[in-house]
Amino acid sequence: MSASNPSAAGGPLTEGPRDPEHDASASYALEPTYVAELTDRVVATSTLTDQVLSPLDGAPLAHIPQSSPEDVAAAFARARRAQVRWAATPVEERERILLRLHDLVLSRQEEILDLIVLESGKARKHAFDEPLHIALTARYYGRRTASTLRTERRPGVIPGLTRVDVNHVPKGVVGIISPWNYPFTMALCDGLAALAAGNAVVAKPDAQTMLSALLGARLLAEAGLPEGLWNVVAGPGPQVGGALVAEADYVCFTGSTATGKVIAAGCAERLIGCSLELGGKNPMLVLADADVERAAEGATRAVFSNAGQLCVSVERLFVADAIYDRFVQRFLARTEAMTLGATLAWENDMGPLVSQAQLDRVGAQVEDARSKGARVLTGGRARPDLAPYFFAPTVLEGVTPAMTLFGQETFGPVVSLYRFTGEAEAVQRANDGDYGLNAAVYSRDTARARAVAGRIKAGTVNVNEAFAASFASLDAPMGGMRSSGMGRRQGTEGLLRFTETQSVATQRLIRIAPMLGMSDRAYARFMTANLRVLKKLGRA
Ligand code: NAD
Repeated sequence: MSASNPSAAGGPLTEGPRDPEHDASASYALEPTYVAELTDRVVATSTLTDQVLSPLDGAPLAHIPQSSPEDVAAAFARARRAQVRWAATPVEERERILLRLHDLVLSRQEEILDLIVLESGKARKHAFDEPLHIALTARYYGRRTASTLRTERRPGVIPGLTRVDVNHVPKGVVGIISPWNYPFTMALCDGLAALAAGNAVVAKPDAQTMLSALLGARLLAEAGLPEGLWNVVAGPGPQVGGALVAEADYVCFTGSTATGKVIAAGCAERLIGCSLELGGKNPMLVLADADVERAAEGATRAVFSNAGQLCVSVERLFVADAIYDRFVQRFLARTEAMTLGATLAWENDMGPLVSQAQLDRVGAQVEDARSKGARVLTGGRARPDLAPYFFAPTVLEGVTPAMTLFGQETFGPVVSLYRFTGEAEAVQRANDGDYGLNAAVYSRDTARARAVAGRIKAGTVNVNEAFAASFASLDAPMGGMRSSGMGRRQGTEGLLRFTETQSVATQRLIRIAPMLGMSDRAYARFMTANLRVLKKLGRA
């Protein structure tokens, strides 16, 4: 066990160099048998592998087997066989498996956190949000699926004689494509709802973070999920993701808006449904009566959690003129007091970005803004002294529409500050652009803040919190408006998207057609009178 490994014995780390052939100085080494146990779960028949580097030090972490389009087809065939039995399994048994997963995730959290930090580089305290979110999701669907899926009775066309039952039947095999930024929760959370609804899953996690996703698959198996229901494929998005869209009965995608459009087009071609959880350029509004210290604390978490690589993170901060200077002073003080580090320790407040590509993207946006006149209040540069892809927490003023990061998602630890005088103006500026994922409003008057929230075009709005209040409330649907997505995860909506609604109408005694020698014309008159009476009686 490495000295810096806070996990209990039996975790993924070992002593010594990680990969002696490639990197004798590696500071974190994964147990080869541990890695093999995870990577054996990838449905892959070829000997091709993809090397994963750890953002903590840029050194090799593992080699992941790669799936071919034939492997994806084989994964679907296996899933389809297993799904037939699963759909016939009592919902209560499916719920029991999810509740066992809840306990497993809580008891194995140090192991989960180690893998997430090693693969994504995020601070351990932000990694903790992932097992927390999976435990909440498992408990929610472990307790609410049977009642949500129960067959509903609805009124039929002829009261008393037409009975209507509405069933929620599973889609079949759901394809899940997930990103690297929350590698454990994004790979698992939607799939738990899909399984609960009676589907099988074929999952394609991002190439950077396969181990965290494979650990999720292993925990599901340990919780008692029958063979064949959770299948993991690996490889480049356009090939393997494309093969998955070609086979699935429904696709659940989380990632960028650009890729979301490609997925939507593929699903439209096959006339299958999809949910798309996409990017954002999320605003926070700090109203004149806000508690400045509380808002500054919330803003620090909202902007820098997971180094800003969070779909619901805040990238635009609108602050009332009356408190602007006080707020900025407290926000900068909190930002500059953060502990930056690229280790497995709990003490870090922010870790590195995930990859060189992310560092290049964030650096280019900040450079573009600076060259066009933005003022850098803190940060604004890479920190290679901390880790290869580290970018300093960055606060900007004077950002204009001429700058790329005014409207484009940065997905890094960078925020733009703006003053406002009237609330109507703040709402209008918050609603600028095409995105609509998440927003936050800080005010001591929570009723007023909720009224402001109702005018913001975003799928979730948090009052006196940044994002966690809505995201961790599992009964609250989560998703984007406009270019931030389609459909919702969490809540009843997050379960029912994985079902088809089926109406079964049973007709008793009389048929819905002319009877007893009645002519078609007489039947039409009779039905017309009937409709008028039913409207008068207030029937829907
Ligand atoms: P991305 O779109 O590049 O990749 C996401 C996933 O799609 C990966 O698994 C990738 O391999 C796969 N993929 C890429 N091209 C594909 C294609 N042509 N066909 C099928 N699959 C393909 O996104 P990213 O950069 O990895 O993730 C960051 C983005 O995700 C950000 O925009 C962020 O806001 C968004 N995100 C949204 C949410 C949400 O809930 N709304 C959550 C997390 C991340």
